Amino acid sequence: MIKKILSFFLISLLLVSCVAPTARLPDINSAQVKEQEERQKKLSYSNFTREFQRTDNITFNINSSNQDICEKTDFDLGFKVSNSFAVGEKEAPFYPTELNLGSQLSVVSVSKNSNAFKTGILIGDKVNSINNELLETGKNGLNDYQKKITKLKDQLVKIEIYRNGVKKIFEYTLNKVCGFPLVFTRDQIINAFADGKNTYITQGIAEYSRDDNELALVIGHELAHNNRKHIEAKTTNAILGSIVGLTLDLLIIASGGYSNGEYTDMLSKIGAQAYSVEFEQEADYAGLYYAKRAGYDISEANEFWTRMGAKNPSSIAHNSTHPATAARFVALQSTVTEINSKIKNGEPLIPNEKKEYKKKDDTTTSQKKKFDLKDIFKKKQ
Ligand SMILES: [Zn+2]
Repeated sequence: MIKKILSFFLISLLLVSCVAPTARLPDINSAQVKEQEERQKKLSYSNFTREFQRTDNITFNINSSNQDICEKTDFDLGFKVSNSFAVGEKEAPFYPTELNLGSQLSVVSVSKNSNAFKTGILIGDKVNSINNELLETGKNGLNDYQKKITKLKDQLVKIEIYRNGVKKIFEYTLNKVCGFPLVFTRDQIINAFADGKNTYITQGIAEYSRDDNELALVIGHELAHNNRKHIEAKTTNAILGSIVGLTLDLLIIASGGYSNGEYTDMLSKIGAQAYSVEFEQEADYAGLYYAKRAGYDISEANEFWTRMGAKNPSSIAHNSTHPATAARFVALQSTVTEINSKIKNGEPLIPNEKKEYKKKDDTTTSQKKKFDLKDIFKKKQ
């Protein structure tokens, strides 16, 4: 009997493995497939562009609103450029047409609160020269641009552009900003980090944030890691090493351009290098100030970081190093209360410091109160 059952079972197995689909499927038109492929590609680059422009805008707001309390400052042109070579010649046609991507550099993002925007520079403008120096086109376009903008000494700049073939000249004052520019990557992983030089934001985390206020919390947090020098020399070397090992793309986007880099490998490696709990707490604390000073609503900060912690146990959520999301929730709430009471009492909106914390060439900060995270926790206990 057992034999019979076994052989029946085996035969059934054989029969199952011989079965092939018999349904008559509709014929697939290869032209339609190609059309669909292109449509999806366009959609993907359009999302990437939208999130890049949004993140660029928020980063500008945070970096410019906090320049008075940043350890490192820079002057910002207020717009980003790219060309078809930087995004990849084959891919360029799938990017939004408003970017006007070609061999000549064009404006791909303008920060809404920048002097560039106020003076009238628009997305799609072809940038011809900066301070009367002609910009290169083609493969070396972004490199040449980078060299020229790092040479800018004066805060006053003259930009010559072409819009629909018509030459226009814009002269304006560069905005002073915190010197930690945005590097936006196409990665879908939900992550963000700081390497002491730049603020890295993935498309994944930008899309995960429900509005600008939430994304501002992330950018503020990363600015705090950068501005408060949370990266030890050893770690910095490791990270820089891995960046140099990558393609030029990253340097291009780091220097204010716009390309098509994906760095998931690097992001997960760096993501694994978690900060100490104390640094994370300080980044949360100071980050809330930075976001608030830029005009963002921080009242839902605790909800956001809790949602992030539940969803994504990576470095940004801090779950691996400290599972105490409850403590984090309470600390964030206390900080929001502290900030609100300062606004109410007309006190300076600057993070409290433990010791006399004096910023270089700035005398006003010496009046800051003592900053001690323990006090925040004590209050709630
Ligand atoms: Zn962090």
